[in-house]
Amino acid sequence: MKPNKHYADLAESYLFFHIAQKTKKYLEENPGTHLYRMGIGDVSLPLCDAAIKALHGAVDDQAVKETFHGYMPECGAPFLRETIAQYYAKRGVELSSDEVFVSSGASDELGDILDLFDPSNRSMVIEPAYPAYVDANVMGGRSILHLASGIDNGFLPEPGPDTKADLLYICSPNNPTGAVFGREALTKWVEFANRTGAVILFDAAYEAFIEDPALPHSIFEIPGARTCAIEICSLSKTAGFTGTRLGYTVIPKDLEREGMNLNAMWVRNRTTKTNGISYILQRGGAAIFTEEGQKQIHENIRYYKENAAILMRALDKLGIWYCGGKNAPYIWMKCPNGMGSWEFFDLLLKKIQVVGTPGEGFGACGEGFFRFSTFGDRADTEEAARRLVELLG
Ligand code: PLP
Repeated sequence: MKPNKHYADLAESYLFFHIAQKTKKYLEENPGTHLYRMGIGDVSLPLCDAAIKALHGAVDDQAVKETFHGYMPECGAPFLRETIAQYYAKRGVELSSDEVFVSSGASDELGDILDLFDPSNRSMVIEPAYPAYVDANVMGGRSILHLASGIDNGFLPEPGPDTKADLLYICSPNNPTGAVFGREALTKWVEFANRTGAVILFDAAYEAFIEDPALPHSIFEIPGARTCAIEICSLSKTAGFTGTRLGYTVIPKDLEREGMNLNAMWVRNRTTKTNGISYILQRGGAAIFTEEGQKQIHENIRYYKENAAILMRALDKLGIWYCGGKNAPYIWMKCPNGMGSWEFFDLLLKKIQVVGTPGEGFGACGEGFFRFSTFGDRADTEEAARRLVELLG
């Protein structure tokens, strides 16, 4: 047997490991200290009532012969695929339900979807980036174009003459920067992809956090996207499904390359490599798209947004540059006084017991920046903001 040698090309996954090591050491040296954890990418609020009720109801269905479900359709239950298609329709995006594939989360899909593409394709990753994009491509032996972004373009780069890539990862609202592409900027990417034959992999895991009505939630709000894009979504952050696991992927039937239809290829992939997602979870997921479910998840999102507002007020008071927070659950700030990401991490840990995420961990151009997550506890967020102002003010 020959192992996949590309695994040897993976950079050490040091970011969260290194953070955990540093905080562990600090707690060993300062036992009993409370840490203000503003680094977590996980939610802290439980599932909403509508989802819990639907999950319980579905468990009961499984106890009765007449309502019991065995294997589910590999691409998703028709009731959920239809529900999600209607969710898009409310935003003016027409999808047929068989363009929606139910998944067990965005991470799984971001890796699995690469099955559709030849290993010789080159992938573009806009950095700073969610680390899984780069690693999934390294594992597959693909070459990667690291497209750096920065303050000058608001962390929202446009395609240029050097953007030579076949797969274009776009994450909007972005993790880690919280930046969101507007219609005009996304149109440039769609036109570029259609012109060059590239395919956009649009990660919309944070779409529900957009509050500005002018900003697109989906790449399919952009004319022309049906012939060049795949959208990967998740209920993880939208509805607190990080531990419950449910997502969905949209592949339009108009998406074809070299005579091959990517929707049909994905049907073949799913029917070969999966046996569907649990009936119980799909019922829980469908409840999120009801009127009641939407109201409840937006109450939770409002809680996180208030956390964001607290941190943003602190940064405004300090005159520190940042982006994100308003239409995303992350705030991306410039480290003060030209400090490096890890230097700033150490300062916050040691002086005010606040833990965030050093920007350098999301790609080289993240050096000198720092990410705050707003998924934490309200009281901790308030105290972290107060300590930040006291330390840097
Ligand atoms: N995409 C982005 C940008 C993320 O930040 C995350 C999780 O943090 C994911 C995808 C993965 O989401 P899921 O929990 O659905 O696997």
